[in-house]
Amino acid sequence: MKKLFQSFYWKLSLVFLLLLIALGVAQVTITYNSSMQFVRQADQKLNLNLARNMAAEFEAELDDELDISSIKSSIHDMMVVNPRIEIYLLDSSGKIIAYFIEKDGEVKADSVNMEPVYRFLNDPQSDLILGQDPRNPSLNKPISVAELDLGNRKPGYVYIILGGEQYDSALSMLENSYFLRTSLKVFGIILLVTGTVGVILFGFLTRRLRGMANIIEKFDRGDLDQRVPVKSNDEIGRLAQSFNSMADTLQENVRELKKTDQLRRELIANVSHDLRSPLASIQGYLETILLKGNELSDEKREKYFDTILKNTVGLRKMVDELFELSKLDTQHVKPDMEPFSISDLVQDITLKFEPRAEKKNIQINPKCPSGLPLVKGDIAMVERVLSNLIENAIQYSEKGSIEIKLTANNSTVAIQVKDSGPGISEKDLPYIFDRFYRAEKSRSRSSGGTGLGLAIAKKILELHGQDIDVQNRDGNGAVFTFKLETVQISDKNVSKESK
Ligand code: ADP
Repeated sequence: MKKLFQSFYWKLSLVFLLLLIALGVAQVTITYNSSMQFVRQADQKLNLNLARNMAAEFEAELDDELDISSIKSSIHDMMVVNPRIEIYLLDSSGKIIAYFIEKDGEVKADSVNMEPVYRFLNDPQSDLILGQDPRNPSLNKPISVAELDLGNRKPGYVYIILGGEQYDSALSMLENSYFLRTSLKVFGIILLVTGTVGVILFGFLTRRLRGMANIIEKFDRGDLDQRVPVKSNDEIGRLAQSFNSMADTLQENVRELKKTDQLRRELIANVSHDLRSPLASIQGYLETILLKGNELSDEKREKYFDTILKNTVGLRKMVDELFELSKLDTQHVKPDMEPFSISDLVQDITLKFEPRAEKKNIQINPKCPSGLPLVKGDIAMVERVLSNLIENAIQYSEKGSIEIKLTANNSTVAIQVKDSGPGISEKDLPYIFDRFYRAEKSRSRSSGGTGLGLAIAKKILELHGQDIDVQNRDGNGAVFTFKLETVQISDKNVSKESK
């Protein structure tokens, strides 16, 4: 129950009902006031000449002196016929000289405000004119006024309040019973019908919100597969769409985080394993050298030191590559993009690796067509990618050749490194870019690398917005392909301007 009172539906319905009641009260009040205004105006119009007729009658009865008692009886007759009126005789300043009201009445004012009197005499046809009621000076009521000679040519006025107190209460009773009851009845019907329809409609409209809140609660409790059905394109539909896409992103991020966490665990396991083996070997050889001392032949000692050195170099390479990869991962590293000639870079790298390749009877053949456009990239990083690929090509081939082929496409230059080695087994192909992944064959080799070279190459190309692809050449070696964007005319302008 508490939940219902806290619900949006309840608040909406309550505000709607309160608004409905406020509107109803305003409507009843406005109807009542305008009806009152109409009745009063009609009353004044009907009795426009009442004061004048009365003044004519009084003047006929008055001689030189004002004789109140002589006119009292005729007034009494009039008031019997018309109990709604109260008659006052005023002098020229508005002072009440005599009054004729119902028996129990009490007159509280000595004089009346003359402004409405003059207004009535000047323009009796104008809109409703309200004059001060001497019995209740704070109230203004419809009046009828006429000039009167009070005898001896003393000017005065007949001042009639239309709708005296007795009549007012009778009228208000009538009004209460008629206007109010009718208005209240209409208002009651409107409140019942509109209120019921409104509350049902709100219930229907907020049903989608309630459904959405339930789904979001389930999502919040950990069921990340929950999605809100999108049934329309209105605000609620858009809200559902936004929630769904937010949930997709969140779910994807959680998946990524889990994957990264898994990778991190594997990385630690691999690093410890790959560090342990060379370290154990170094320790073993050093202990043997110390233990055997002079017993060891020079030839053996040299062999042991050679193995220790190889293991140390391997360890150093691994630590360097790990450091490089973690630096690339931090996202603080941004490639320093600049235009350069990929042909020149390939020629330089070929020269660098030729001595090593020749030792294994391998030929490096760069195929760089003339007129290739400049490419955009971080030269040092691209050199690292090419070096890693050529190093692998030399390392995993016994003899043969390595071809480095450049091909210009629309807005890119494709770079291919083909070797004539054993190639990569289908089983290993999907994993060779993973960190620390080494194919079975390479693992067993004593010369095996760290398993980080291709992961570094892939990461560098990712930072360049590019991918790297590998394919087997049916037992004739492997071919690695990646692309670099060429420099467009607009890029040249920008770099010239910035110089
Ligand atoms: P590694 O330091 O072991 O060379 P890489 O990340 O460079 O690590 O390569 C991962 C694995 O991919 C290698 O262990 C090897 O099994 C395989 N590989 C890479 N390049 C070649 C290639 N040209 N020919 C055959 N196998 C390759």
